[in-house]
Amino acid sequence: MNQIALLGATGSIGTSCLDVVRAHADQIQIRAVSAHRNWRELAKICHEFQPAVAIMADETVQNEAILSDFPSKTEVRFGSEAITEIAACDDINTVVAAIVGAAGLASSYAAVKAGKRVAIANKETLVVAGPIIMELARESGSELIPVDSEHSAIFQALLAGNHRDVAKIVLTSSGGPFRGLSREEIASKTPEQALKHPTWDMGPKITIDSATLMNKALEVIEARWLFNLQADQIEVVVHPQSIVHSFVEYRDGSVIAQLSPPDMRLPIQYALSYPQRWDAVAPRFDFKTAQHLDFSPPDLATFPALKLGFDVAKQGGTSGSVLNAANEIAVSRYLQNELSFYDIERVCREVLSAHEFIASPTLDELVALDDWARKETTLWQP
Ligand code: NDP
Ligand code: MG
Repeated sequence: MNQIALLGATGSIGTSCLDVVRAHADQIQIRAVSAHRNWRELAKICHEFQPAVAIMADETVQNEAILSDFPSKTEVRFGSEAITEIAACDDINTVVAAIVGAAGLASSYAAVKAGKRVAIANKETLVVAGPIIMELARESGSELIPVDSEHSAIFQALLAGNHRDVAKIVLTSSGGPFRGLSREEIASKTPEQALKHPTWDMGPKITIDSATLMNKALEVIEARWLFNLQADQIEVVVHPQSIVHSFVEYRDGSVIAQLSPPDMRLPIQYALSYPQRWDAVAPRFDFKTAQHLDFSPPDLATFPALKLGFDVAKQGGTSGSVLNAANEIAVSRYLQNELSFYDIERVCREVLSAHEFIASPTLDELVALDDWARKETTLWQP
């Protein structure tokens, strides 16, 4: 029985993961769950799955959470430290890292250090601290299995050959809700419009990232570290149907892809079942109905955030931490109507170029620059 800690249980990935656990209760047991503030939802999850531990990251919730709403079997804890502790706990085999943002870094780090299997949805962990996390995983024997659909596709396609024979990988992008529009049309788009994603139903932060293509930028950086590739071995192609989740091209020209309808339950399940495969929870691809699969190059002039991803993947060092922190604040300011759509990319670019670059930073230096970039972006005025 695989004992898992589901960190970010109340979110979009968390909810999909619960579905996978329901379908495979003979294989997986939830031992711990966490949320940020949403204790009501967490209590419901605890009644259904009866974990030993439930944690709310925000300690102020302690005043409002009604502990009698949780089952008596579940010990309720508060604070981010408790999440980091549970991620390294001996009773847990697999940590599902589904917290949003750099807030997920400490628990991912603890899980990797403790040698756990980490089903990694929290791409920000790798964007901020990719080289440190991958080195730590080599030392501890931790298996990092991607949940991000593109990276899951690449992980699967990489099983078809040797790493040294990989020519490049190609990440697919739906193009987001504003695909095909001009810069002028996009410039005035509101958060409500940006939150309507054509193919994926996700949390608000990643949905805005998908509209700017910052999500794809973060995925380029994530792929660079996770798969130990050079930035120029990574390409992005726009594929509006979100059926082909990514490609690996080998030196002989063979291109291997993974296809399935857009549903996160499949990559989550694969990260838990690997190297085995279990029966499908998510719908299958239907070859009996006519399908179109379209591919076109991304428009970097209209979606300049994507270029930042390639720049940061090349630079490495502290750039990922600064880009990620600036973007988190910029997205939250956009959602509060304090910034316009293109301000997100502008402030990220400006904060990135203003930072004091360190080529081989320590974790403390990354955390300090994350903090600095958040302050700069909060004060930034268009
Ligand atoms: P959501 O916003 O839907 O959920 C986030 C989860 O993290 C919630 O459980 C939330 O708790 C918790 N959380 C938020 N802030 C904190 C914090 N400071 N400390 C601890 N926990 C916190 O996000 P998603 O599920 O969409 O995304 C999660 C991660 O997965 C992101 O890194 C995203 O990039 C990645 N991902 C998501 C995909 C998707 O389809 N959604 C696809 C690929 C990757 P609460 O409910 O209490 O706020
Ligand atoms: Mg993705």
